[in-house]
Amino acid sequence: RSAPPGPVEPLSPEDLFIAVKTTGRYHRQRLELLLDTWISRNMQQTFVFTDGEDEELRKRMGDHLINTNCSAAHNRQALSCKMALEYDTFINSAKKWFCHVDDDNYVNVGSLLKLLSQFSHSQDVYLGRPSLERPIEATEKLGTAEMKQVSFWFATGGAGFCLSRGLALKMKPWASEGSFMATADHIRLPDDCTVGYIVEALLGVRLLRSALFHSHLENLGAGVRHTQPGDSQLRHNPTRFRSVHCLLYPDTAWCPRPR
Ligand code: UDP
Ligand code: MN
Repeated sequence: RSAPPGPVEPLSPEDLFIAVKTTGRYHRQRLELLLDTWISRNMQQTFVFTDGEDEELRKRMGDHLINTNCSAAHNRQALSCKMALEYDTFINSAKKWFCHVDDDNYVNVGSLLKLLSQFSHSQDVYLGRPSLERPIEATEKLGTAEMKQVSFWFATGGAGFCLSRGLALKMKPWASEGSFMATADHIRLPDDCTVGYIVEALLGVRLLRSALFHSHLENLGAGVRHTQPGDSQLRHNPTRFRSVHCLLYPDTAWCPRPR
């Protein structure tokens, strides 16, 4: 009997580029919780993409806070503007893997590294969880009057997804230096769908599904128990990110001490 497969490519945290998408009004409401939890242990590989300056966050994150100057509106243009900068910043870094998450995701970096080490960063890898049961159908604008139907799978941005550097480099003609926004416009779909369009429809690479990515499209509330059940826990720990964090990093100062 053969041993379980080992990592194809051993990875260390420095090989990872994690882009967190946020917006001004979520800095206090969402981002501080992430900074208190998973980002605090992974600052070197995490970059927060937002749409407005914030002195307090700047003090905590330095140049890991990236003010995109994208509009703070929740429309296709504004969101693809942020994704475009996430992509460009990754390309200009020396990192092996690009992962995108929203500001309501908890990232277990150890388990993410274990997953990614099963692949080679120089191969074409697009990993995530689709939000739909079937491929999305879209219309490409070809010429002035010409339209073409395309269908492809995409990983929902809200559950997080990753791209290998090898694949990200191939995406350049449709994703780098402003062309991502043009591609999103061309297909008239949101940022995460546009990534799927470039990867699956234009490059012919298939999305690899992983059950390790989660979004609030699932019912996650039942998954994690509070460290101390009760009303006050629910009020102060509604996302249960603090509970998860204490399970992963029990030496954290504010975690309950084992007795
Ligand atoms: N977001 C943004 N601009 C906005 C509103 C939201 O960049 O005007 C970001 C937000 O910070 C989050 C993502 O878009 O990272 C998804 O937002 P949210 O979780 O509120 O919406 P949903 O998951 O329901 O689509
Ligand atoms: Mn969300």
